[in-house]
Amino acid sequence: MLQDSKAKRTYDAIVIGSGASGGWAAKELTEKGLKTLVLERGRMVRHIEDYPTASKAPWEFEFRGAVPIEKRSGLGAANWKREETMHWALAEDEQPYIEEKPFRWFRGYHVGGKSLLWARGTQRWSDFDFEGPARDGYAVDWPIRYKDMEPWYSYVETFVGFAGSRDGLDVLPDQIVQRGFELSCVEQYYKEKLKEMYGSERHLVQGRCAHISPIPSRFTWTREDPNASVKTCATEVVFMEVIFRPMPLPCLGLKRRVT
Ligand SMILES: Cc1cc2nc3c(=O)[nH]c(=O)nc-3n(C[C@H](O)[C@H](O)[C@H](O)COP(=O)(O)OP(=O)(O)OC[C@H]3O[C@@H](n4cnc5c(N)ncnc54)[C@H](O)[C@@H]3O)c2cc1C
Repeated sequence: MLQDSKAKRTYDAIVIGSGASGGWAAKELTEKGLKTLVLERGRMVRHIEDYPTASKAPWEFEFRGAVPIEKRSGLGAANWKREETMHWALAEDEQPYIEEKPFRWFRGYHVGGKSLLWARGTQRWSDFDFEGPARDGYAVDWPIRYKDMEPWYSYVETFVGFAGSRDGLDVLPDQIVQRGFELSCVEQYYKEKLKEMYGSERHLVQGRCAHISPIPSRFTWTREDPNASVKTCATEVVFMEVIFRPMPLPCLGLKRRVT
């Protein structure tokens, strides 16, 4: 009986956090057949039933989506707060941090993490971006360049399904996209005028985004994937510390606090 219980509680891999990073790690691990446990400090989020504002029209919100300043206080400096997303907001004392310089801090303490808050912009970085810190002297140089990332961008893009165009710009590398949205007539006119005035120096392109496309977007692992092997998500569990032992398995267990 005890042995059975131990076997049930034993995992090949444990992932801390169920955001885009942890979610993707869990997806890869389970697809490779590893029995995987995801520990998530926040609450479970179930598709559809836990999206109370998803199908509301702007006029159904008291302030058409805007959040009055007095309602923002105590909820961090984040400017993403809209009436549509206020239910994901954390109170200041739930996300303490030290602000020595002005700093915008966002957290998403729930299954899916910030993948439920992001704006879905999905441009690839170019070498111009990777060289930025060293070139402009604001941080240490990246140890990688675009060529190292290129196959991985393609790997993710193929799975997720992004909308956009192939624009042939070295500062914004082309990526695997499905047909993007058409420019409006005003945007089209502006694009033409830009070209007329600045030639190949300035461009107006359609933003690339993880949004409506013929192939459904599956950004977080929480959508059911029939190919995935066993995955378990324990929610409202705060990961504190990994307890190590030398061999044969390096990780013996996790110290955790149940919230
Ligand atoms: C408003 C907004 C707009 C954005 N727009 C874009 C965009 O357009 N394009 C883009 O590329 N990026 C965008 N981002 C950034 C992007 O959303 C994040 O970089 C990305 O989602 C981070 O994923 P993550 O998995 O690394 O972290 P998170 O999503 O923060 O996930 C971390 C998870 O770990 C859990 N956790 C934390 N600590 C513990 C612990 N001790 N124990 C257990 N669980 C724990 C958290 O609850 C959370 O679920 C945006 C972000 C915000 C907030």
